[in-house]
Amino acid sequence: MVSNSFLWKGALFPRGMMAAAIFLAGTILLPPRTAAQAPPSRVVVPKASQAPAKPKLVVLLVVDQMRGDYVDKFLGQWTGGLKRLVEEGAWFRDAAYPYAATETCVGHATISTGAFPATHGMVANAWWDRKEQKMVTCTSDPNPNVKNIGYAGATPQGADTAWRMAVPSFAEELKFQTSGATRIVSFSLKARAALTMAGHKADAATWFDGGAWVTSTPYGTLPFIEEQAKSHPAKADFGKTWSVSLPESAYWYGEKALGAVPPQGWDLTFPHPLRGKSGAGEPDPDFYNQWASSPYADTALTELAEKAVDALNLGKAAGTDFLAVSYSSVDYVGHEFGPRSREIQDVLLRLDKDLGNLFAHLDAKVGHGNYVVALSADHGVVPIPEDMQSTGADAGLLHLPEVQERIEKALEAFNYPKPAVATISGSDVYFATGVYEKLAADSNAMNAVLDAIRTVPGIAAIYRAEELRDRPATPQSSNQSPTLRAFAYSYFPGRSGDLFIVPKPYWLLDGTPLGKARSYGTGHGVPYNYDQHVPVLLMGFGIQPGQYFQPITPADIAPTFAALCGITLSSRDGHILAEALKKAKPALPAQLPANARGTTHP
Ligand SMILES: [Zn+2]
Repeated sequence: MVSNSFLWKGALFPRGMMAAAIFLAGTILLPPRTAAQAPPSRVVVPKASQAPAKPKLVVLLVVDQMRGDYVDKFLGQWTGGLKRLVEEGAWFRDAAYPYAATETCVGHATISTGAFPATHGMVANAWWDRKEQKMVTCTSDPNPNVKNIGYAGATPQGADTAWRMAVPSFAEELKFQTSGATRIVSFSLKARAALTMAGHKADAATWFDGGAWVTSTPYGTLPFIEEQAKSHPAKADFGKTWSVSLPESAYWYGEKALGAVPPQGWDLTFPHPLRGKSGAGEPDPDFYNQWASSPYADTALTELAEKAVDALNLGKAAGTDFLAVSYSSVDYVGHEFGPRSREIQDVLLRLDKDLGNLFAHLDAKVGHGNYVVALSADHGVVPIPEDMQSTGADAGLLHLPEVQERIEKALEAFNYPKPAVATISGSDVYFATGVYEKLAADSNAMNAVLDAIRTVPGIAAIYRAEELRDRPATPQSSNQSPTLRAFAYSYFPGRSGDLFIVPKPYWLLDGTPLGKARSYGTGHGVPYNYDQHVPVLLMGFGIQPGQYFQPITPADIAPTFAALCGITLSSRDGHILAEALKKAKPALPAQLPANARGTTHP
């Protein structure tokens, strides 16, 4: 009778509907039936063990530069979606990236693949291409058949895809392993976020470039995005003013963030008008920078996500759909005003409202409990050095051009080509072709280089590429420092540098040319907790709410999604967050009927 009813359901309903029916039967407590409501004799409620239910929609939310402690600090003021994630979801309070390269492209690729950069290959936002002898961004695609496409008549430059990502995203695996029924849609202001979250192909991967919404040829264009782009959500915000949303006394920090560098056209204090700089009354590049640094950009991304749910009927088709949004504005605001600013507190207050609207929309359209959400960040941020110095702490700027100058000077005494250094990008020092191989066999010159770098203020350590290679050979080696291990997790042969500069804590790697004023307040990108510690919040389908304190990494998100969707990821470094998953119902009733005992199970 049981198998009969299963066949009956399987024959009549498409697979997705059957899964939904089983899910409902397994989780919702129905009132007891009266005799009048007795079910037809052939219908038997299927047991949860017969086929695990799947979420109808997987929602990935990344808040660029949202440090883990922002949840602890500002939760009491949230009333919308961020609060709901904490209250209805699983909050992992000790989540941190274990690797050194805490940058946007790296973090998004880690979240989307469940692998570390040593595996997925997205080692930075940009790196030195030794073959091309130039800097390349993580998404730049040299394939001549690839071109960026602008919505609403825009003509963007460049060609961006996820082709440099060495493993498939969770979303791609989901689509591949479930017969292609999955729709993959992602949005961000940044190409390196939208593309890595989606993967190598998608139904839509959309970002914002110079005032226009953009995609590229391997990703589809969709009519609803064209429609939304034509309504110019950014331009429509021209002339608005970003003001504080709570009374003065509700803010943690002073009205002026020490060391802040606001975008052109803005003062150090609220209110921040979105009018560009030119004063021409027209959106100019400064206006678009202001817009990206304001809560209005988060609202525009939320609206796009809601339109995607409506236009594509996400969560209503046979398979599990995938929707990803990376909110970029917290990153811009953080770079400009720093983590100890009213601007950071306020942009999060406004994001909390946007996310509340998004979840309400998903509840209405997909159904409460039918979708699963993960929210995390790609990296954190260090306090503005001047702000940190005001406490008496050892903090400052580690000037990368000075590192480069001192290396060149140190090599003058030896027979090396000039310049010996190709470039320094973040922690990675790239030598000109052949130089590092020569140095590795020339201990006098190598020591001269290392000694010269050590004289630059703010240096904590220098690692050599050969110390970081062969990560699998010594995964648990007890003599490895956590910092060395962090660099090894980020090391990808061919793309990573030759030498790696480790700054002291609270020292910012600064690439500003000597003698020029820096164009930002603070940054991120090193293996200290302020850059590594991010929130991981899970909510909805299959998630056991609560606060969890075990140390985890954002690479655990994709394996957890994979477990909920019943698929396998090929090369993951993360683990399933099993403690936050609802436990499956036992396969058989704990107490077998009396007449079954001794007959079916002798
Ligand atoms: Zn950033």
